[in-house]
Amino acid sequence: MSKPPSPARGDWLAQAIGRIEADFQRSADTHLIALPIAGFADVGIDFYFKDESTHPTGSLKHRLARSLFLYALCNGWLSEGQTVIEASSGSTAVSEAYFARLLGLPFIAVMPRSTSAEKIAQIEFYGGRCHFVERAAEVYDASRQLARETGGHYMDQFTYAERATDWRGNNNIADSIFTQMAHERHPIPHWIVVGAGTGGTSATIGRYVRYHRHVSRVCVSDPAGSVFADYWRTGDTTLTSSGSRIEGIGRPRVEASFIRELVDELLTVSDRDSIAAMRDLSAHLGRKVGPSTGTSFHAMLQLAGAMKTNGMQGSLLALICDSGERYLNTYHNDAWVSQNFPLA
Ligand SMILES: *Cc1c(COP(=O)(O)O)cnc(C)c1O
Repeated sequence: MSKPPSPARGDWLAQAIGRIEADFQRSADTHLIALPIAGFADVGIDFYFKDESTHPTGSLKHRLARSLFLYALCNGWLSEGQTVIEASSGSTAVSEAYFARLLGLPFIAVMPRSTSAEKIAQIEFYGGRCHFVERAAEVYDASRQLARETGGHYMDQFTYAERATDWRGNNNIADSIFTQMAHERHPIPHWIVVGAGTGGTSATIGRYVRYHRHVSRVCVSDPAGSVFADYWRTGDTTLTSSGSRIEGIGRPRVEASFIRELVDELLTVSDRDSIAAMRDLSAHLGRKVGPSTGTSFHAMLQLAGAMKTNGMQGSLLALICDSGERYLNTYHNDAWVSQNFPLA
């Protein structure tokens, strides 16, 4: 029997994985909310929302951060004392700062200088540091360079999101969705509507429905300015675009984690429509949701409209990606919206 290369690191690694697993064991699953919508409920079309805003760090990125840390640890990419670095303009950095603190590792978020003060405060709350670059496109190279300089590990969510999650089942978001839907009148959703930032969520759900041979189809609700729409149609990985103005979704370059073969439909939603749908859904729910949730709700209404026209019954499901409380000064503020999204 050969000895492990470093007993000390072996101990740390086992402890680190154990800490994440214990944290997971203490966690509750997120709620699935059934929301009857007038004009649809009465014709047998049901809307569901999986509330990812209730994770400890406030968004669906909590799942991704947990998966990325476990993936890095189990790959032997992360060891005691190493700095963790991520290119992120927000939610992922908040969630990764939480897990870095859990493991006692330094964390640096690399982001554009324009990142909101609220996001910066949340990252710093969990003990993370922020490293600013002038333009959004610089975050990738700056992250790589920081990793070299500090001997740290660049997590690289845009590359690894699609493979860090176990898509077959057991504890991923898709598995939870189908379990929670089990007693509904239409338990297998006709449409599952998600936004794509890394593309990880659409990839996990897309693979899961194929593996379990469900008829559910995955629709990506993409904001104006995102490159994903053209890439989905053409398959051209060299495409670039201006980028999205809806936080968390839509990218200016084709990210490795966005797997177009797993996306059955893609609907582009204008910023004004995303914001209007965000407010509409917030009113239906009695609490505020974030803008990317609005993008999905708008796409959902379009898909549900087509189902109604065709006399189809069934269910549609989307995610509440994060809470509107994060955007009180921006997308939920009338003055900010009319200044930043003027009517043409
Ligand atoms: C990341 C993110 C998404 C998209 O999820 P991916 O799995 O990265 O594609 C949607 N909404 C918000 C608020 C996000 O932060």
